[in-house]
Amino acid sequence: MRKHIVAGNWKMNTTVAEGVELAKAVVAASAEVPADVKLIIAPPFTHLYPVAEVVKGTRVGLSAQNCADHVKGAYTGEVAVNMISGLGAEYVILGHSERREYYGETDATLVEKVKLALAEGLSPIFCIGEKKEEREAGRHFEVVTEQVKNVLFELSAEEMAKIVVAYEPVWAIGTGLTATAEQAQEIHAEIRKVLAEKFGELAEEISILYGGSCKPSNAKELFACPDIDGGLIGGAALKAEDFIGIAVSF
Ligand code: PEP
Repeated sequence: MRKHIVAGNWKMNTTVAEGVELAKAVVAASAEVPADVKLIIAPPFTHLYPVAEVVKGTRVGLSAQNCADHVKGAYTGEVAVNMISGLGAEYVILGHSERREYYGETDATLVEKVKLALAEGLSPIFCIGEKKEEREAGRHFEVVTEQVKNVLFELSAEEMAKIVVAYEPVWAIGTGLTATAEQAQEIHAEIRKVLAEKFGELAEEISILYGGSCKPSNAKELFACPDIDGGLIGGAALKAEDFIGIAVSF
């Protein structure tokens, strides 16, 4: 059976002290969530060390929000995969639309990052999704297919087994607009079909999360869809009550 996952992307929010408090609140409330749902939080880099101390030995997993595309060296301001794993993080969000759009991340860079993360034992939460104008032009299937093929088709089956995919329509991120359950299910099924072209039955084992203004009020309907295995949560992950409110929707 595929893993159910609810992951919180805190983005560039909270001070270290606030982040530690938020992590403690998530851990405290995590008992309410069904045991088969994996909870993950992704604080900013600066918070990983103290937050790792909070989640150690609990059911809450730790993720970074990005990593460098080089192993080490003269790359001022970058954070290497072994620095992330060294703090006890097991996941790294890669290819988020904000990184693609504001920091010029290309599929080619993402192949490097995904491979480095995997080699370090991290599981990438790999984000894909179409922009508003691409959906309006009816190109959403084409866009996500290309993102999957350009990056994930470069992996071996063994590597692919460690990937979590997050479908995040860019027009739904932080906008309050959510894809309908029907729109989300349709594209999740398509993503799984594309994965099956290369990876066969393994595609059935890959968790595909939905992201984009997911909240306690709409999570149940989304998570009831057969190809939606959980959520990547932005804004609503900044309040433990809302984050857990989403995770109990399974
Ligand atoms: C995200 O950025 O990954 C996200 C899903 O954000 P939000 O939930 O705020 O739309």
